[in-house]
Amino acid sequence: MHELTLLVGVTQQIGEVVRENDIDHVDAVVLEVGEATTVVPEFLRDGWEVLSDEYDYLRGAELVIDIIPAVCRCRECGTHFAPEENEGRCPACESSDRELVSGTEFLIKEIRLLE
Ligand SMILES: [Zn+2]
Repeated sequence: MHELTLLVGVTQQIGEVVRENDIDHVDAVVLEVGEATTVVPEFLRDGWEVLSDEYDYLRGAELVIDIIPAVCRCRECGTHFAPEENEGRCPACESSDRELVSGTEFLIKEIRLLE
């Protein structure tokens, strides 16, 4: 369950922002999670429940998960397509020589504060 390790990193980053900006409490955190990562959103939510309770500035904060769709680019013809389509082959030229151009994200998109 590497979600917990990722979340510890997230809480540390938020902790820095909180200290630098003299923030008392964060109300919601938006994470961008790529569809092609091995991160399981359900585990993130479970981990967040436990971890957010350990920090005064995060207690009760909502975790919002934005899933970024996986997109591949065909190395033969440059067509962009979703890797789960067409059994992973390019829909234009049927090549299976592809690279992932989106979907591997894991980052903090937004830290929300209520006024
Ligand atoms: Zn192609």
